[in-house]
Amino acid sequence: MSKDIIKQLKNHLEILKASGVDLIAVDAQCHPEAKPKDLRTVSKQDEDSPLLPELRMTTAKDSLIKLRETVVRCTKCSELAATRKSVVFGSGNANAKLVFVGEAPGHDEDIQGLPFVGRAGQLLTKMIESIGLTRQQVFICNVLKCRPPGNRNPLPNEITNCEPYLFEQLDILKPIVICALGTFAAQTLLKTNATISSLRGRFHDYRGAKLICSFHPAYLLRNPNDKRKAWEDLKMIRAELNKAEV
Ligand code: URA
Repeated sequence: MSKDIIKQLKNHLEILKASGVDLIAVDAQCHPEAKPKDLRTVSKQDEDSPLLPELRMTTAKDSLIKLRETVVRCTKCSELAATRKSVVFGSGNANAKLVFVGEAPGHDEDIQGLPFVGRAGQLLTKMIESIGLTRQQVFICNVLKCRPPGNRNPLPNEITNCEPYLFEQLDILKPIVICALGTFAAQTLLKTNATISSLRGRFHDYRGAKLICSFHPAYLLRNPNDKRKAWEDLKMIRAELNKAEV
């Protein structure tokens, strides 16, 4: 391998690591030293399994890693692609039963390449912990994967460009519960123009998952009186997870 390729690979791995990826699926067939017989070698474990290693099912983690490869190269929104420091794919557990969907990365998220790491993120962490979970147990992502300059609202065409990535993430994750944080997440997932106040307080169906709409943590920081209602939503999430013993 040339020094250039090794350098590019190293940079790429550092970006992935900084964005929360801690495991990369390596296809044994791509390894330069892999001989065909390596793949056919049957271990005791393989004998017990009906599938040979090369036929094993792709995990959610593998699929997310593959999707991330596409998303980090996206340039569909030229302004966002030109101004971003990172593409914020999302982070957390590939087997999460609960997924939080926010609006778009802000300044801190753009710098760190991770979702909800600023002030609103600190509140979200407390909300997650209030129902007995950690950030490592859930998955957190946004409608937009790139920061709109100056934290302006996402534009309709930016949502149209980016929402397929969110839909694919949810198809891979197959959570039991999805919590849409704020108007943009709720309206994108439910394909509605209804307000967050009219949508919250009950579960909606999102492709078989229970979708609950709640206030965005940044809104709650500005309107602490509504934290009580957000707590009601969190208790509904906890009750639904209890049914699945999560
Ligand atoms: N607000 C969001 O909607 N998402 C983030 O990741 C951070 C702030």
